[in-house]
Amino acid sequence: MNYELNDIQKSINENFKKFCENEIKPNASILDAGDEKAVELLKNNIKKLGKLGYMGMMHEETFGGTDQDLINFAIAGEEVSKACAATFLSAGASCGLCGMPIRLFGNDKQKEKYLPGIISGDVIGSFGLTEPQAGSDATAIATTAKRKGAKWILNGTKTFITNAPIADVCLIMAYNDKEAGPGAGVTAFLVDKHTPGFSIGKPFDKLGYRGSPTSEIFLEDCEVSDDAVLGELGKGFIQAMQTLEYGRIGMATVSLGVAVACMDEAVKYASQRKAFGKPINRYQEISFKLADMMILTDLSRLLIYKAAWAKQMNDPEAAVLASCAKLFASEAATQIASWALQVHGGYGYIKEFPVERLYRDAKLGEIGEGTSEIQRILIARDILQKYGS
Ligand SMILES: Cc1cc2nc3c(=O)[nH]c(=O)nc-3n(C[C@H](O)[C@H](O)[C@H](O)COP(=O)(O)OP(=O)(O)OC[C@H]3O[C@@H](n4cnc5c(N)ncnc54)[C@H](O)[C@@H]3O)c2cc1C
Repeated sequence: MNYELNDIQKSINENFKKFCENEIKPNASILDAGDEKAVELLKNNIKKLGKLGYMGMMHEETFGGTDQDLINFAIAGEEVSKACAATFLSAGASCGLCGMPIRLFGNDKQKEKYLPGIISGDVIGSFGLTEPQAGSDATAIATTAKRKGAKWILNGTKTFITNAPIADVCLIMAYNDKEAGPGAGVTAFLVDKHTPGFSIGKPFDKLGYRGSPTSEIFLEDCEVSDDAVLGELGKGFIQAMQTLEYGRIGMATVSLGVAVACMDEAVKYASQRKAFGKPINRYQEISFKLADMMILTDLSRLLIYKAAWAKQMNDPEAAVLASCAKLFASEAATQIASWALQVHGGYGYIKEFPVERLYRDAKLGEIGEGTSEIQRILIARDILQKYGS
């Protein structure tokens, strides 16, 4: 076993660190305003990441990608999220949550239509599973797809959809056969934003990730053809669950990036700030917090690499390892963000200091892509299946 990054991984880390420090991080607090300027900056960040190759790291060369492994993607992703978590989330919703199922299940025509744009950052994708009455229990979605001649008519409401306000295309999961149940009766449809009957709600005013727009999607007699069906009819729920395995590694990665950014800010501040005549980093109460931050971020990273490695090896353990990484890294991030804010004292509570934004961003990790409670259920189920009596 070798824990050292190889030369390619080291160079990905260095390139992304430099790029994100210079190009993404300086705008992170401006994006946090969540206004029109922020939206333009976000789109620009996604295009810049497209040019750098980030959006295509997990995609085939035929469509402009570089077809790399998930560990490389996580190494790059840590740097993106460290610089700006909102940019990571929106970029990931596009090239991962929307782009990955197109890669895995789409036909050539769909890949040709969407992937080059998603990879360059010119086309923005989104993933529409959650509904007002169906979050943790995604089987409870009520969106329907009814056959009318050669067309499909979609009706329903999606909510909390990352990128919906700026997306060109959204992957919509809908029941085409309720009686067949989620495993055989849900289909995924690629719906373009200008399709009649497709509309979006006002962007939500959120606690964190304010630079990544989120809204509802309304489908009112929204008519699409068979060309919009992703992969096999009735397999949409399974496709969504497989996509979420990648998504959970992504959510773990953004949590790690936020946690490392918090640690960096806390270390810097603790070295500069003096109280009772000496830097606060000389007080054990403060330095022990820094030590714990170091351990938790390192453990998060190890779990992420392990889950990413299992996923790329098609290891049957990959799903549970993704849940473990996501659960651990997200809870570590909220703890670290809280400690980092505490290290800043009152200054951590005002917007001038990045830790205020990071503290608000950290919490989403415990909610998005399956809450912490749901991850514990999945992990416990796995243990009991293997070792329970
Ligand atoms: C900023 C943001 C971006 C998002 N982006 C997307 C996106 O792009 N696409 C998308 O489809 N969705 C997206 N989501 C939705 C997200 O995945 C859901 O919010 C999440 O799955 C939880 O669902 P819910 O909010 O309905 O909470 P609920 O399911 O109502 O859960 C409420 C609480 O009950 C707990 N709970 C529920 N069931 C159980 C149980 N069986 N046992 C114990 N506890 C339980 C939960 O853990 C939680 O604490 C996003 C959400 C946010 C906030």
